[in-house]
Amino acid sequence: MTAEEKQEKLDYRYLRMARIWAENSYCKRRQVGALVVKDKMIISDGYNGTPSGFENLCEDSNNVTLPYVLHAEANAITKLARSNNNSDGSTLYVTASPCIECSKLIIQSGIKRVVYGEKYRLEDGINLMKKAGIEVIYLGEEE
Ligand SMILES: [Zn+2]
Repeated sequence: MTAEEKQEKLDYRYLRMARIWAENSYCKRRQVGALVVKDKMIISDGYNGTPSGFENLCEDSNNVTLPYVLHAEANAITKLARSNNNSDGSTLYVTASPCIECSKLIIQSGIKRVVYGEKYRLEDGINLMKKAGIEVIYLGEEE
């Protein structure tokens, strides 16, 4: 097995873990999970949800997502801000394509690779990260 094949296998495996992690989300419309991996260690994790101390409810009575819900990537990155870990040079695994807001955070946190598993019609986040020199990899269904 080549080094590339090995890396791809590992990428699929972490993405699978991110999908399992997404099950923690109490959001009804959409559940997203994220993992930050550095030197083969998971240094942070996140799923979409409300900030600490807020009710575990993502949608209003009209099933519209509340404005203060944090995306999985934002939760994983801000969790790092409270830890002794450092995301510089790490890889982010996220089950869905990052939005433009999260992409800005990803760039600023020094994440160098992003592996995601679900495409979205808007690609502005993906394009921004590529422009910043981040390696962005889409992994579809596993064969
Ligand atoms: Zn986002």
